[in-house]
Amino acid sequence: MTKQVVLQGGTVLRTGSLTSEQLDIAIGDDGRILGVGPALAVPPGARRADMAGKLIVPGLVDAHQHLDKSRTRRRVVNPSGTLAGAAAGYKAYAETVTRDDIAARALQTIEACVAYGTVAIRSHTNIEPQSELRGIEAMVDVRAACVDKLTLQIVAHVTSDATRMLPEAKAWLLGAVARGVDAIGGVPAFSDQPLAFLDMVFAIAADHGLPLDLHIDEHLDPDAILLDAVIERTRRHHMGGRVAVGHCSALSVLPPERVRRFAAGLVEAGVAVITLPAANLFLLGRDASVLPPRGVTRVRELLAAGVPVAAASDNIQDPFVPTGSGDLLEIARWTLLAGQLGLDDLGAAFRMVSSTPAAIMGLGADWGLHVGARADLLITDAADPDDLVASGAMTRTVIVGGRVVAGKLPTIHPHAA
Ligand SMILES: [Zn+2]
Repeated sequence: MTKQVVLQGGTVLRTGSLTSEQLDIAIGDDGRILGVGPALAVPPGARRADMAGKLIVPGLVDAHQHLDKSRTRRRVVNPSGTLAGAAAGYKAYAETVTRDDIAARALQTIEACVAYGTVAIRSHTNIEPQSELRGIEAMVDVRAACVDKLTLQIVAHVTSDATRMLPEAKAWLLGAVARGVDAIGGVPAFSDQPLAFLDMVFAIAADHGLPLDLHIDEHLDPDAILLDAVIERTRRHHMGGRVAVGHCSALSVLPPERVRRFAAGLVEAGVAVITLPAANLFLLGRDASVLPPRGVTRVRELLAAGVPVAAASDNIQDPFVPTGSGDLLEIARWTLLAGQLGLDDLGAAFRMVSSTPAAIMGLGADWGLHVGARADLLITDAADPDDLVASGAMTRTVIVGGRVVAGKLPTIHPHAA
């Protein structure tokens, strides 16, 4: 018996399109999209669902989270509310953290994200001396456990004291690669040898054919910028299109001409930027006595220069960010507000949590709303993607691999031959 379903008469945002249109979507037995077009035929035995008044978009993509740390806000202190305070607080907790604890918290956050319409997450997973590879091992288990609900990528994230232990860090990274991580990452600014740290992670990523996703310039010091070193190494290792940098907060303190030069360098080298407004707004600039800064990178200028810019959740309910629902539309909204985008940029904000992060994560033709893509869809009562960012949605149905994983399809009718 066929499991085919035809979603009829919805407002559909096709892959690569900036505007939505009235179309049907056919989903095949294999959970992939069989057809997208007007008035598709419903094969005998297939089901059909009436999508009148519904917006159907590809599922949302969260290019930067920390699932291993999520939901630790009641267990870890950060009295100063700073990045250093959060890192110090978590280090003490990492000593005792167990695989089961990490997995349970991560799965709880994944459930929330899926319910809000996220179908793929890239999660930076701590490697530090206190926990070594426990986080990586836990997240490998989690990736397998949620394979029917979500595409999960694991970044081996060298952080805290491990950034100052290069030989040990290299051994841990190779261990993480052997366990099947999807990308290499870390925080070079925490290292006492940031350039040697960068050389090490670039070499391991290049040697193993893995993308690189680094935390870069999560501070407001114009004299401590590492972005130029990342651009130079991306060129040298021919890794254009395979390198992403999170934060780049320090760009916000540079004069416009220097920002333009950095933006041109990012475009030319093929480095993408992921802005993380929640952590920036919470952690940065607390020492300012007047005019507290936003700490968000130069989103407008980077977009205008053609840099791929995604927006992502970063930390969810931990000492780095005590809030977080898992709703990427909330993050798109904050990016528009904190980045001071314009009234016409709602669509751009939407793309920052959908097509751009999908490209950064290398999801390829599997992701999107076109024939052959996996049927990973978000169905809401919004009028169009602009509306989805502006006001959100009162109802959400999420389909992954052709299967409803959250909410429900409005009406399903078996179709007689
Ligand atoms: Zn992060």
